[in-house]
Parts: sequence; C-alpha cells; structure tokens
Amino acid sequence: MKTLFSSDFTLGILGGGQLGKMLLYDTRRLDIRTRVLDPSADAPCAIACNEFIQGDLMDYDTVVAFGRDCDVITIEIEHVNTEALQALKAMGKQVHPDPEGLGIIQDKGIQKQFYLQKNFPTTGASFYPGVVTLEDAVREGRQALPFVWKSTRFGYDGKGVKVIRTAEDLNDLPHVACLCEELAPIAAEIAVIAARNAQDEVRCFPACEMVFHPEANLVEEVECPASSPAHVLAEAEVLATRLIRELNLCGLLAVEFFMTKDGRLLVNEAAPRPHNSGHFTIEACYTSQYEQHLRGILGLPLGDPALHSPSVMVNLVGTENHSGEVYYQGAEHIMALDGVYLHVYGKRQTRPFRKMGHVTILRKTLAEARVLAKKVQHQLKVISK
Ligand code: ADP
Repeated sequence: MKTLFSSDFTLGILGGGQLGKMLLYDTRRLDIRTRVLDPSADAPCAIACNEFIQGDLMDYDTVVAFGRDCDVITIEIEHVNTEALQALKAMGKQVHPDPEGLGIIQDKGIQKQFYLQKNFPTTGASFYPGVVTLEDAVREGRQALPFVWKSTRFGYDGKGVKVIRTAEDLNDLPHVACLCEELAPIAAEIAVIAARNAQDEVRCFPACEMVFHPEANLVEEVECPASSPAHVLAEAEVLATRLIRELNLCGLLAVEFFMTKDGRLLVNEAAPRPHNSGHFTIEACYTSQYEQHLRGILGLPLGDPALHSPSVMVNLVGTENHSGEVYYQGAEHIMALDGVYLHVYGKRQTRPFRKMGHVTILRKTLAEARVLAKKVQHQLKVISK
C-alpha cells in the first residue's frame, strides 16, 4: 500500500454527515487525504474534506465512479449501494466495512436472522414480506400481540420502529417488508463499540448507557461508565468482540444491547461505523471512536480505548415546532461552564428532532456530570430564528 500520511493515498467516505465530519478531524490531524460523497451540496463534511463530490449513495454507477479513485473506501451511513462496494472490492480496492457484513446489517431482517443462527442472545422475531400478510397473521392469531414492528430497510433514529399493542395500531404502517420482535422488558439500553483491524486485533470502548427521549424515540443522553452490573458489561464486551469477528469487519462495530429487568443481555442491533453512542470518546477516552475507526480500516495498531473521565453526552436536536434557519439559544451560557464541550454539526436548517449537535460533559464523578447535563439541557435550545 502507498504511505498513508502526507501522500496521494486517498480515503473515500460514503456519506457526508456529522459522523463523517468528526472522522475528518482525525484525517486532518494525521494528514490523510479524503474524498467524500454525499447527495447534499452543503453536507457537514463538505468544508473539511480534500475533495467533495455530490451524488447519490444508492446509485451503482455513482458509487463505483467515486471509489475508483480511492485506495480505501469506508462509510459513515449504512444506506449505500453494496453491489457497487462489491465491484470496487473485486477491482482490488480495500472496502471497510466488508460489503458482505454490511449487507447483513443493512437489512434488519437478515441481521436478526444472523443473530438467531449464530446463537447471539436476542429477542425472537417473525418476518413478513408486507403489512397485508402481517395483518392476516394477527387476525388468525399466528402473530401474538404486543410486538415491536420494524421495517427491514431504511429505518433510523426510531423511524421505522413502532410498538404494536392492538390490531388498530397496524392501520398506519407503511407497505414494506418487516420483522416483528417480542417486546423486551428493558431495564437499560447499553452500547459497546468494538474495533478490529486486518491483523484481527480487537479492542472495545467501555460500555455506555443510552437514555431515550420518551416521545421521539431518540437517544437523549449517553452516560459512561454505564451503571449496569460489571458482569453484564463484561458480557457485552465479549458479545461485541465475537460479533465483529463473525461479521468479519475492520473498523468499528457499535453494538446496541437491551439489559432486561431480570438481568439478561440481548443484542438489539449493530452499526459498522462511528456511532452516536460513541461521541463521548472524543473528550473522555484516550483514543476517540473516529481515530479508532481510521486505525481499524487502515491496518494500523488500535489505540487505547480506556475512559479517563466520567462523561455524559447530550444530543442537541431541533426543538418541536421550530423549522428554519438554526439558532443555538444559550450557547454562550453553557460555554461558561467548566467541563462542557459543545459540538455544532454545521446544518443551517433545523427541524423538530433533527440531530444538530451534541454536548459532552466531563466531571470527576458521573453524578456531577449528570447535574451539569441537566443544566445544559435546560439552558441550551436549538430553535429557528
Ligand atoms: P433504530 O434503528 O431506529 O435506532 P432500534 O431497532 O434501535 O431502531 O429501535 C429503537 C428503540 O425502540 C430501541 O432503542 C428501544 O428503545 C425500542 N425497541 C426496539 N426493539 C425493541 C424490542 N424488541 N423490545 C422493546 N423495545 C424495543
């Protein structure tokens, strides 16, 4: 391979959102050349990469043409054309995550079947090609209520997920292939981000706990260390390590788990890229998830993922009833607080619940960080002008 640093070596990134933008902080620090593909001309990455190309991530020809001039190709969003990635791999390009593993993850139905076949603990599920066959199954008593309906493709941030308690709840479901999962009795939701390189070295970031917004089904806060029992967190690391190897992925794999009320650990879903639950690693760990992803996909030794400070990460999402040009109300107030780190993604337009930025709070104890996080949530609002 060409030398990575200060050379013509080019890393291609499919997707130009905030995860890509934060990945670019580290490519800049390490002087690694980048090209980014995104459909939107004003994507957050556009200002920070060496070369920005506007185009459709799902279009075969666009993705192949984009990747042809790159040495290594990675993603910051799963919804990309995997056949094009297969073709690039066949041309001798390095593609991480591996298109085969990505294909398993892209489809929630195939992903669930993979967990069941490989004996990962997970909720049971049934699979339907569309809402009509699901309605038949409910009417005939073959599909028990309640359950969690999930569209197999293109769901994210709680879109494409709905708890179904009665037959009436089926009425406004879209006509797409779906899986229906048993409703897990959730006590806590935790995530472990594992990283792997081509030498099969695997290291995990410390488990964090995700706290959800009750209405939007969006992660409101991420706390690290997680407060679940130590043996549960250790088990989560073992499962994340096994999963990244079974999927044969290099780079990151963020694995989301449910801890049930009776203390069992269930795999919910995984993402083969930097993840919202890992933003805290930028300030709170010796190596950030973004640098670790680069190390994993570029065949470099993995960095130390240990936590050096308890942290709470607060997602900044657009306030309800506010759409239009964004204004970060109260930013000056929270920036006066010690241990508070503001990240603004660079999206000019806000919409209700759109992810616009985040704040990481570091304190000597998690309890202190939580108090400060409440203050930040109270004082900082993402509104339209
Ligand atoms: P997304 O890809 O949109 O994040 P998830 O599959 O992670 O979708 O589901 C979003 C949220 O819905 C989860 O974080 C959890 O709170 C809830 N949920 C998902 N599956 C189940 C389940 N089987 N039982 C109970 N709650 C669930």
